[in-house]
Amino acid sequence: MIPRLPALTIDELTSRLGSAARARAVVRWLYGTAPLPQALPAAVPGVAAAAWRTLRAATPWNPPLVRERQASADGTTKYALAFGATLVEAVRIPSPRRSTVCVSSQSGCTRRCVFCATRTLGFGRHLRADEMVLQVMLAAAEAPPEAPVRNVVFMGMGEPMDNLGEVLRAVRVLTQSPAPLLRARSITVSTSGVLPGMRRFLRESPASLALSLHATTDDVRARLVPHGRIWPIAALMALLREDAARHPRRECFVEYVLCAGVNDADADADRLLRLLDGIGARVNLIPYNAFPGSDLAPPPSARVLAFQARLAAAGRRAFIRWPRGRAIAAACGQLALATATAE
Ligand code: SF4
Repeated sequence: MIPRLPALTIDELTSRLGSAARARAVVRWLYGTAPLPQALPAAVPGVAAAAWRTLRAATPWNPPLVRERQASADGTTKYALAFGATLVEAVRIPSPRRSTVCVSSQSGCTRRCVFCATRTLGFGRHLRADEMVLQVMLAAAEAPPEAPVRNVVFMGMGEPMDNLGEVLRAVRVLTQSPAPLLRARSITVSTSGVLPGMRRFLRESPASLALSLHATTDDVRARLVPHGRIWPIAALMALLREDAARHPRRECFVEYVLCAGVNDADADADRLLRLLDGIGARVNLIPYNAFPGSDLAPPPSARVLAFQARLAAAGRRAFIRWPRGRAIAAACGQLALATATAE
């Protein structure tokens, strides 16, 4: 079975349609149509009717059903989407001139990170590449014209490295010309530290990588990220260091969820600085976002600011990701198919 239409690369479309011009016409039509079409048309301008008919018959079109759209006062929109019987969430986060889409790569997750609401869902299934691309297309079709989608982060439900073949295909499609024209460095794939997948990703993709580190000792990390017992921090950092030497232009991020009394001490900041030696990564500090049933708590804002200041004083780029969309459970670690009343 060939990949479905949204997951076909420009080269694959070219070979199926018989010309690069037809392939470009289809891609332009796909990304230029808003709202996301519910069915494929009988004809696409610029594409020979017979070639289009054959392609259309070979690639089923299954756009997601939007079960719910929740908009937060800060402009963040969370989508509850159904791909058949499979439910996932995607989030569109606007900023003054562009929007970011947070994409799910799995329905649920097999990993058990304790600060993450998704783990409470268990595992549904891996998403296909076309289902990931469709999340971006849907959000892009609804983005305000003054803030078009320019960034995609694979930070929704799921561990991307556990479904890497499909994630790599989605990244390839999203960065192909002529649409949606995202740069590789505008796409960030996040991982909770699945080392074999990280190795392959760094070998095969030019996109940015975000490592969810969250701790500076293996003991604390294993408490927050149970599979941290398998792949120690030193091995993760060694791989990032190797990649920084091999691909100095790649954007690399280290995500660090700050939990009060667990990983937010000055000593943690100092250890983090040492761990990052030789790695030009930007650190994103994320005050923990609470969800029902969790016994973790976010540090007071003053502690978050002090942690950031300690990193910055040592010359490390460190940003605080204050929660966006917390009221609709769309903030980091909160995706768990909760429904809420839109603000
Ligand atoms: S943080 Fe990521 S890898 Fe960990 S349970 Fe949540 S979705 Fe899965």
